[in-house]
Amino acid sequence: MHAQTFHELASLVADSPTSYHAAAAVLERLEAAGFERLREEDAWPVRQGAYAVVRDGAVIAWRIPARADARTPFGIAAAHTDSPGFRIKPEPDTARSGWRSVNAEVYGGPLLNSWLDRDLRIGARLVLEDGGSALVRTGPVARIPQLAVHLDRRVNAEGLKLDPQQHTRAVLGFEDGPGLLETLAEAGGIDPRGVLAFDAFLADAQPAARLGARGELVASGRLDNLVSIHAGLRALLDAQPEGVIPVLAGFDHEEVGSNTRTGAGGPFLEDVLTRIRAGLGADAADERRAAARSWTISSDVGHAVHPNYPERHDEDVRPIAGRGPIIKINADQRYATDAAGEALWRRLSAEAGAPAQAFVSKNTMPCGSTVGPITATRLGLRTVDVGIPILSMHSARELASLADVESLQHVLTAFYSRAQ
Ligand SMILES: [Zn+2]
Repeated sequence: MHAQTFHELASLVADSPTSYHAAAAVLERLEAAGFERLREEDAWPVRQGAYAVVRDGAVIAWRIPARADARTPFGIAAAHTDSPGFRIKPEPDTARSGWRSVNAEVYGGPLLNSWLDRDLRIGARLVLEDGGSALVRTGPVARIPQLAVHLDRRVNAEGLKLDPQQHTRAVLGFEDGPGLLETLAEAGGIDPRGVLAFDAFLADAQPAARLGARGELVASGRLDNLVSIHAGLRALLDAQPEGVIPVLAGFDHEEVGSNTRTGAGGPFLEDVLTRIRAGLGADAADERRAAARSWTISSDVGHAVHPNYPERHDEDVRPIAGRGPIIKINADQRYATDAAGEALWRRLSAEAGAPAQAFVSKNTMPCGSTVGPITATRLGLRTVDVGIPILSMHSARELASLADVESLQHVLTAFYSRAQ
């Protein structure tokens, strides 16, 4: 089981250097399984079937079971397609000291040090003069080189201090070599003169690896939050839906606050749900009645207890990697879970034979957040926040348990397959 999970997850990460690629990779896998791609500008079919729609770096997919009617509730699994890192600036090329470097903006909250001395690739959406666009990705071409210890004698004693503007340029070769745009155009087999604009990001080029003495761990870039996208995708394919309309929502821009047209704070999910409901012949009352019986499970990674920093967690609530997904709870509603949501997750976990554990922050540590409270506020749906516990969150390379990824997938499958 671990081998297949690892293979599928590693392949999703490899195909997804950016959120645009992630949405396209999910769509490609769904289409291969018989899902029909819909476009927002077209009329949509209303019959039983399996469908997906991509909006930039976001993707929503769903299945309409044979017996679905105007009041069949939704079962929504929500996650995000983006990860913290570096977004390449306009006028990206700097030539200095014999080197050609790429200038990039910090995107979200990456651990900057973790990006040093890695083989980096570049993923981009290119918008072309002819009105089309292209997703391209390079192989390993760049690196943010750390300063040698000989030139930074106190670094080990005093800690690494990085200026996010000065110290994060990625070397792309020698001064006389091709610039960023030429490199991207060449990777896509496109004439660089036909490229009008780009959305481009740096990404770790190293493939995911299986680690641990028993191969029980996965180390990879973008586990936050491609593990949840992977688990939701697998669940949507494996589920036997009857009493609910299963929906997978992969939002962009979670790492920068979600308030965009493709983020969880935007209208994308509501737009899609409204169209599905209208296709089933629902009036406004049907819609609200179905909403009152719907659930969202928002899945995003959380913090496992770290062996070197065990004091960073609450003394009594201690999520351990490998012991199942975590139920995220926060008094300030940074997570949307309440007792009803926790009970739903525990019931589904028991049904799927998966372990479950709780997470709550230590009172002296600020709590993160995710898409769950945002979609709950927008749509008014009952919501539970969960995820798998990982180490090194927001590092260029994070660490997770493969058993936890599988448990998440199995519980989401049970969620999609439940009676109501
Ligand atoms: Zn996340």
